[in-house]
Amino acid sequence: MPDPDPARPPVLTVGILGGGQLGRMLALAGARLGLKSVVFCPDPDSPAFDVAADRIVAAYDDEAALADFASRVDVVTYEFENVPAATAAFLDARVPVRPGTRSLAVSQDRLTEKTFLTELGIPTAPFRAVDTLDDLTAAISEIGFPAVLKTRRFGYDGKGQVKITDPDDLAHAFEAMNGAPAILEGWVPFRREISVLTARGLDGQAVTFDVPENEHSRHILKFSRVPADLRAETAERAEAIGEKVAAALGHVGVVAVELFLLETAEGERLVANEIAPRVHNSGHWTESACLISQFEAHMRAVAGLPLGQPTRHSDVVMENLIGDEALDPERFLAEPGASLHLYGKAEIRPGRKMGHVNRIRPRTDRR
Ligand code: AMP
Repeated sequence: MPDPDPARPPVLTVGILGGGQLGRMLALAGARLGLKSVVFCPDPDSPAFDVAADRIVAAYDDEAALADFASRVDVVTYEFENVPAATAAFLDARVPVRPGTRSLAVSQDRLTEKTFLTELGIPTAPFRAVDTLDDLTAAISEIGFPAVLKTRRFGYDGKGQVKITDPDDLAHAFEAMNGAPAILEGWVPFRREISVLTARGLDGQAVTFDVPENEHSRHILKFSRVPADLRAETAERAEAIGEKVAAALGHVGVVAVELFLLETAEGERLVANEIAPRVHNSGHWTESACLISQFEAHMRAVAGLPLGQPTRHSDVVMENLIGDEALDPERFLAEPGASLHLYGKAEIRPGRKMGHVNRIRPRTDRR
């Protein structure tokens, strides 16, 4: 749908595609602003349902359910980037979808994503499309070892990717793609992983949160720390990347760009890894350490409201609670300086994100 339409009445109800913890936190943040949320998700046990004004349990290709959803909301947003293109197009013909379909298209496919970043002049790992074993052999001879082969679509938390360190790995790595189109990336010898979260409004104004430094454990985010241990110029460059990506996508809402930080003879360098066209796990600390969280910023943006300033008032470490780590949550409730957020998931499973703890301290860095 064309956007913005000055004659359109204010957004009162936001439709959220996807009912996981991100949808839940969006609905909670929206409620604080007086926005109602209707959550659409095929899983009847979705954590977001508990905190939304209404729910639709249906498949993403159920057009009758999607039409019903569109009729009940003023705008649609999403909490995951793998929203099928047909679903987004169907909804977009009826109600504004924010962020728009371009943000989805670019971020759903690693090849499109890296091509987009390269065209913007943002460095990425060297990459080649791989559809056949011959493509892989040719790509590795150009990129060299080590490298990582990833499915172009539907990969997350390290799933659908294989590191290749010598020629004997090639056939096995190719088989692991199960015939799916893939991308070979050169291995980036990064020192740290950081991310940048930018919120962009309907009017094109953007605000960017302070840059977190992210630590993963078994491919799943474990800690985000702010302030990150990096030079002020590097943080500014990261912020500029977030804003450039948001503007080039015509994005409305929060977008996260995952970045590798390298230490080179010329100083710190940034290499972009991935774009998430949505609120992001590495922004959960904003709930406790900023005046306006990433969730509130996203809901403000999609509702066409002023974004405000996401000023950080505290230093913070966010810890994801994964699987059994969420047992005995009382110990976090008793901890000074800690703020616990549980996602209300009934079943604990290994590797499942169950909640997070934000630990704040008075801000130490200069403003
Ligand atoms: P991704 O699914 O692309 O976000 O990758 C998951 C994790 O694998 C990243 O957070 C990195 O720790 C690691 N990784 C992915 N791609 C590369 C690469 N090209 N070089 C080095 N590490 C990588």
